[in-house]
Amino acid sequence: MESQLELDTPVGTGLSSPYDVTADVAGLKTLFVNVFFIGEPGPGNPWVLVDAGFFGYADSIRKKAEELFGAGTRPKAIVLTHGHADHVGSLKTLLETWDVPVYAHPLELPYLQGKSSYPPPDPGIGGGGMAYMSWVFPIGPMDFGDKIKVIASNGQIPELPDWRVIHTPGHAPGHISLFRDRDRTLIAGDAFVTTNQNAITAVATQSEEFHGPPAYFTCDWEAAQKSVELLNNLNPKAAGTGHGVSVRGLDLELGLNRLAHDFKNLSIPSEGRYVKQPAITDETGIVDMPTPTSYNVARAIGVGMVLSLVAFFFWPNKR
Ligand SMILES: [Zn+2]
Ligand SMILES: [Zn+2]
Repeated sequence: MESQLELDTPVGTGLSSPYDVTADVAGLKTLFVNVFFIGEPGPGNPWVLVDAGFFGYADSIRKKAEELFGAGTRPKAIVLTHGHADHVGSLKTLLETWDVPVYAHPLELPYLQGKSSYPPPDPGIGGGGMAYMSWVFPIGPMDFGDKIKVIASNGQIPELPDWRVIHTPGHAPGHISLFRDRDRTLIAGDAFVTTNQNAITAVATQSEEFHGPPAYFTCDWEAAQKSVELLNNLNPKAAGTGHGVSVRGLDLELGLNRLAHDFKNLSIPSEGRYVKQPAITDETGIVDMPTPTSYNVARAIGVGMVLSLVAFFFWPNKR
């Protein structure tokens, strides 16, 4: 009953899906990850795809695109909010028929061009099954080669003249959000999300709840908090996020404001690999990472075992 209500189309907005953000920003959920189509619907109209969704969803993305922009349509470009596997899962397949540029932030390039893996997920946090499931998501490196184009430092993407790119790191080093000043429309990626992505039950029902970035992959919590504050200061009127339904109006204003002002309590896990110390990354990928507790325990056990073996074989047993 409750989930039925939540998945209803937003009342009075004229939009056809709870994932649509505005009349010219349509949303589509791929398993549990959203992609967005920016463009005025109509055959032959230009458009841009934001993110490439879960693996195996290329056909669904193409079908939705053809519903909006006509048969045989292709985007002018694809923009990646970040390169996590669940956001680029169908990219390779889409690029087989869509020969278009794929834009990403320079700090995200090492993970998209085969140079580095992401800082590994922290399965010990989040308090829900999703954190444990994070181990099944590949962390790369993935290599899309020269398909990937760097977003210019002025934050402008030529194919999206009305929008500006806002660097919102924390969840991923080169994470970006997209903002259109004219009507204050925001595509936030995973900078914040509108479902508790850490809990498997909430992911299944998609119940609306403002939340910081999915915890298991977030490698810099201080940066993540600053990013939410930055987006809140833009005072968006409508927002689509990487996980969960789109939000608008007072709902968005109150939810985001509360999240920005109480980020620590609402989003930062009490303990975890990156909570006290972030992963250090640069244009080449990982530079330094905090050591996980579990690793220390495993190493202590390992060292103990080796020492016992050494003792067993080399202990003077001549009597
Ligand atoms: Zn992510
Ligand atoms: Zn995500």
